[in-house]
Amino acid sequence: MECRIVTIPGDGIGPEIVREACKVLDKVAQTYGHSFHYQEVLMGGCSIDAYGVPLTEEALEAARRSDAVLLGAVGGNVGNSRWYDVAPDLRPEAGLLAIRKGLNLFANIRPAYLYKELAEACPLKKEIIGEGFDMVIMRELTGGLYFGERHTEEVDGILQATDTLTYNENEIRRIAVKAFDIAMKRRKRVISVDKANVLDSSRLWRKVVEEVAKDYPEVKLEHMLVDNCAMQLVMDPGQFDVVLTENMFGDILSDEASMITGSIGMLSSASLNESKFGMYEPSHGSAPDIAGKGLANPIATILSAAMMLRYSFDLDKEADAVESAVQKVLTEGYRTPDIMSEGCEKVDTARMGDLIAERI
Ligand code: NAD
Repeated sequence: MECRIVTIPGDGIGPEIVREACKVLDKVAQTYGHSFHYQEVLMGGCSIDAYGVPLTEEALEAARRSDAVLLGAVGGNVGNSRWYDVAPDLRPEAGLLAIRKGLNLFANIRPAYLYKELAEACPLKKEIIGEGFDMVIMRELTGGLYFGERHTEEVDGILQATDTLTYNENEIRRIAVKAFDIAMKRRKRVISVDKANVLDSSRLWRKVVEEVAKDYPEVKLEHMLVDNCAMQLVMDPGQFDVVLTENMFGDILSDEASMITGSIGMLSSASLNESKFGMYEPSHGSAPDIAGKGLANPIATILSAAMMLRYSFDLDKEADAVESAVQKVLTEGYRTPDIMSEGCEKVDTARMGDLIAERI
């Protein structure tokens, strides 16, 4: 298979971790007979330095023409960087919002998986962790409360602020289809999270999700209220497979789900549009505090590349190979400093990439 991948290393640790992910992709290409063609573009602070803006139209156009985008992270030291002495729409993170919008990435997927080797980092009790957990949070990214009409006004001398939460059935249907498609590649269970006991938008959400479910008879659908879901995530995380939810609920629940894994350097993510196209990136930021020191954990980015293989290229076998190589390296006791524990061997960013690539 021939695939065109745009890479956006970005700032801070971005270039170090994207380099390792490409090393692993190259090994996949060599082992399974594929050709991955890379085009590197700038975004974030490095683009501001080169072009005066966080994302150029040329960079966005290159991303549009590609089959998938692999992103490191953007941004600098917020309290201590010239990149932040400007209007918000010229700061590094504005590039991120612009590319998500420009590529119409409406579906955000964040897996939360607990490696048994890293269970010590999980803040939950052993009896709650049980056999571990393996879920993905599918969050709608371009609608709902964050994108609705908003205003602040003074009414009878009192300040009043209003935000509106709107979803139409098409927006709900397209994200529900993505969630069911992904469930078909996993354990075939969707829990749709809403607040249908209170909100009209949630009642429409539930109705449309049920309609979509009819096209996926193999997938078991359940509904859960968001307040209950927040509790269930820390009481019984093992029950979840695909969690489907709207923008604001997903914002909160995906952070909760990722924090119970305890390891920020291990968390991958993907944002997809209506076709197979997606942008793949670690859930963490550019970590300027450790940039250039070989301390960054590249696994979140490597696992994001595995998601790219699975969701954009339909290369499930290859994605499995990357995920099991990560598993093997952890089982053999190799750790970057952020996940180091007693009795393990500490390795730097590049060595971790080598070890994973060697096991494919
Ligand atoms: P961060 O995720 O960059 O770092 C938080 C902490 O986790 C730091 O101590 C860091 O050293 C550590 N860490 C993060 N990733 C790691 C890795 N792979 N290996 C080892 N340790 C790791 O969050 P922050 O410090 O709040 O933000 C730093 C910059 O990143 C800011 O400019 C912020 O705006 C930006 N940011 C970008 C994105 C993105 O590009 N998607 C996301 C979040 C934050």
